[in-house]
Amino acid sequence: MSLFHKEIKTLKGIGSNRQVLFQKLGVSTVGALLYLFPRNYEDCGNIFLINDAPTDKPCCIKATVVSPVSEIRTSKGLSLFKVRACDGVNLLNITFFNTGFISKKLTINNEFLFFGHIKNKEMISPSVHTTNMPLGLFPIYPQTKGLSSKQISSAVKQAFLLLPDTINDPIPVNVRKKYNLCDLKFAIENIHFPKNQDALEISKRRLVFEELLTLQLKLSKIKHKNKLESSHKLLNNYTDEFYKLLPFTLTVSQKKVVSECLSDIMGSRSMNRLIQGDVGCGKTVVAATLCYNIIKEHHQTAFMVPTEILAKQHYSSLKSLFSQLNINVELLIGATPKAQKEKIKSDLKSGKIDLIIGTHALISEDVSFSNLGLVITDEQHRFGVKQRATLCSKGKSPHTVVMSATPIPRSLALVIYGDLDISVIDEMPNGRQKVDTFLIDSQKKARAFNFIKKLIDSGQQAYIVCPLIDESELELISATKYAADLSNNHFKDYKVGLLHGKMKSAEKNEVMEKFISKDINILVCTTVIEVGIDVPNAAIIMIENAERLGLSQLHQLRGRVGRSQCKSYCILVSNSNSSESIKRLNVIANLNDGFKIADEDLRLRGPGDFFGVRQHGLPCLKTINFLKDIRILNEVKEAANEMLNETLN
Ligand code: ADP
Ligand code: MG
Repeated sequence: MSLFHKEIKTLKGIGSNRQVLFQKLGVSTVGALLYLFPRNYEDCGNIFLINDAPTDKPCCIKATVVSPVSEIRTSKGLSLFKVRACDGVNLLNITFFNTGFISKKLTINNEFLFFGHIKNKEMISPSVHTTNMPLGLFPIYPQTKGLSSKQISSAVKQAFLLLPDTINDPIPVNVRKKYNLCDLKFAIENIHFPKNQDALEISKRRLVFEELLTLQLKLSKIKHKNKLESSHKLLNNYTDEFYKLLPFTLTVSQKKVVSECLSDIMGSRSMNRLIQGDVGCGKTVVAATLCYNIIKEHHQTAFMVPTEILAKQHYSSLKSLFSQLNINVELLIGATPKAQKEKIKSDLKSGKIDLIIGTHALISEDVSFSNLGLVITDEQHRFGVKQRATLCSKGKSPHTVVMSATPIPRSLALVIYGDLDISVIDEMPNGRQKVDTFLIDSQKKARAFNFIKKLIDSGQQAYIVCPLIDESELELISATKYAADLSNNHFKDYKVGLLHGKMKSAEKNEVMEKFISKDINILVCTTVIEVGIDVPNAAIIMIENAERLGLSQLHQLRGRVGRSQCKSYCILVSNSNSSESIKRLNVIANLNDGFKIADEDLRLRGPGDFFGVRQHGLPCLKTINFLKDIRILNEVKEAANEMLNETLN
């Protein structure tokens, strides 16, 4: 057995107790231990004098203890340990919390390295090293109670020393050469025990490349496997006759995407495609066109969306469109009454239903189809790859379309959605106006309220979004209290509604129906409305505590307005004075194009968020914190293609 596969218990000093602790960190083999990367490094290679210490980041100070450690008990039962140290010129106060052993370690007149943040000549809870260790970058590992970073580090050291001189490298030598990547042994050594900053960067690059390459190859294999012989090859294209039924003409971009999909569906392999497009670009009608084509040749379609509100919305618009054509459309959600559910299930099985729209309810075990030809998932980022696959398994290699409402930069899409072909709608329907966006602080809110009143008086409706439901976090505004305040004060003479995620499904539907029928003027809500809601008469959205939300989430929310010919507005309210928040909010205020916002988001925050497990159902990437420069994504893509071509030839 290779060292990589051996249990970590085979290492010295790791008994069953410690083995359990390592397992908590996801480590059970020596290989996994070597791939447990530090989450950070303490730079003890640069030693500062107390007076020269940087104020914006932690640093290392070499100082002699000049006072005994004194213990102070706080009223809450905490112990503080205070000690003074001197670097030969200046004094530093150091405080530790609840770490009694420190008083034994920090003996007077001895010199130590202290790594931490200095503020007003004080360091709080620094890490302490003896001065006889080699100076350099110290790895800080993700820890768990009972297992310190130092203990992990020494286990890693032991494992590394057991490695043979040359180890199997998953990246072939020609690829390493071409893309300038170090070999695996160097990378492992220097990610854990970097010789210097350069060696660390070289190792990070190589490990990021390796992880992304592995992911890319895996996704390409899935893509290849998914391209099965199609069981639902269309013989005719019914698109033009469908277009004639619509009250508007599709944009050039919508038509282009429809024809990309149609050429898949009419080809010999089943379609597996992502449709990316900004909020409001009209993805639903593209999906409807595909449904129509499929249904014309007697295959069924399943259309899965993440929320009941959205399911009902799609149901009512598609039902009214399709019922004139003798196409049978049904809705299946958690709230569907039991008897009706049974009827729908049996009609799906017998093939009486052509198009079923629903939530996760569609993937429950007892749902089956007679001839499932097309699976559409809307707002794909809410579903995992597995859920998509489960729905598809209810048919015989059906065509699949996933629609993503969160534009992501193309370079990332190629990796994240590497198992799919990608179509992009990059144009808005005619006549859409830019949503004017303003950033204000709460002092200007009275004016904003007056503006909202004016719009409502002219027949329009408004959303006000509060990030929270109740007052669990005091300084933030909760939706419930907010709605009550509005209807008692500013908007006494108006109809104020409330919508939040903790309401029962029936209540939510009732509120939405009232809003759609204009029985509610202002809808106070949490971010539940972010996904897909389409009420074209709403012309203004005000977002409280806007700094709490991510850029693409804000853009999604703003996408709830500007859905008709009417001029629409978005007001972002924030009292934050952090320059970073203001920078981000200005990106939203100044840009309207979701793809450009995504690019900015990527630039400001790095790619980590785009790769989140929750969003895409992909495994968490270990090296994601190392990934700063996304140009590597294109190289990985290229390398993966070269490797795949080589194996095919
Ligand atoms: P999204 O891409 O965000 O899912 P929707 O499909 O909900 O967008 O479409 C937004 C609105 O635009 C809907 O009211 C829809 O009827 C309308 N729409 C879609 N395509 C066009 C078009 N080509 N011309 C005019 N209106 C359109
Ligand atoms: Mg949509």
